[in-house]
Amino acid sequence: MIVFETCEKMSAWSRERHEGGETIAFVPTMGFLHEGHLSLLRKGKELGARLVLSLFVNPTQFGPGEDFDRYPRDIQGDLEKAEKCGVDAVFIPTVETMYPEGFQTICVVGEISKPLCGKIRPVHFQGVTTVVLKLFHIVSPEFALFGQKDFQQLKVIERMVKDLNLPVEIVPMPIVREGDGLAMSSRNKYLSSNEREAARVIFSSLQNAKRLVDQGNRDSQRILNGVSAALEETQKIKIDYLHLCDPDTLEEMTVLKPPALLAVACFVGKTRLIDNILIV
Ligand code: AMP
Repeated sequence: MIVFETCEKMSAWSRERHEGGETIAFVPTMGFLHEGHLSLLRKGKELGARLVLSLFVNPTQFGPGEDFDRYPRDIQGDLEKAEKCGVDAVFIPTVETMYPEGFQTICVVGEISKPLCGKIRPVHFQGVTTVVLKLFHIVSPEFALFGQKDFQQLKVIERMVKDLNLPVEIVPMPIVREGDGLAMSSRNKYLSSNEREAARVIFSSLQNAKRLVDQGNRDSQRILNGVSAALEETQKIKIDYLHLCDPDTLEEMTVLKPPALLAVACFVGKTRLIDNILIV
């Protein structure tokens, strides 16, 4: 496994692989790897002849007052996990490498970036799309894997790839969860043991909502009320948003008509977590 810190070296490696007729699968991450990330790497290993991982905590996708400075980092641990998953190359650029002095170009995707997280974190998705577009140019992958935990991010990137005719196949991957259902996230590390205990209600409330729909209930408001009541009952959780929407457009659904996406963002103490469930 080889580690690159500059765009030039990363690009040159990819070019050589392509000249040798090999395909590249790519998993972009902010590091502090967990089983969710590793599931993407394992799938990437099956898809491409070569597997590239990037570790980059991207400052432009964090708003003022968010957790950029304290985002968990563990490069050594990440390299060990990556090696076990058969990663061929790891790209670890510095902030100055990705955003040198004078940097002034951004990539903005339209409507699909605006609801849900886009409403609450206004610069988040333009930070994501700009960095992912740069990474796609540097790594030139045939396949790029993204988790459905960040469902809106996946949809925004799919839109960008389509709109800009990028020659990469976006591969969506299912949410990997802890034993009690909590979606794995690098941010789970912030939770105290009481908060961690409370956080299990996030997924159980989504599952209960899905069960209601499976039983034939189509009253969106009743379903949403059930989820918010369950979340707020713990007193430790504050809802940031709770949305029932069309999974393709992310437009709000007032009358429930599967397929639908039920997506939630909430604060457990000071930690903001997101999760979602597809209702088909
Ligand atoms: P992050 O490091 O949080 O930016 O995530 C990097 C990639 O891993 C993104 O495509 C995420 O959607 C994906 N990912 C994060 N957590 C999970 C999870 N629990 N299950 C599946 N994919 C995940």
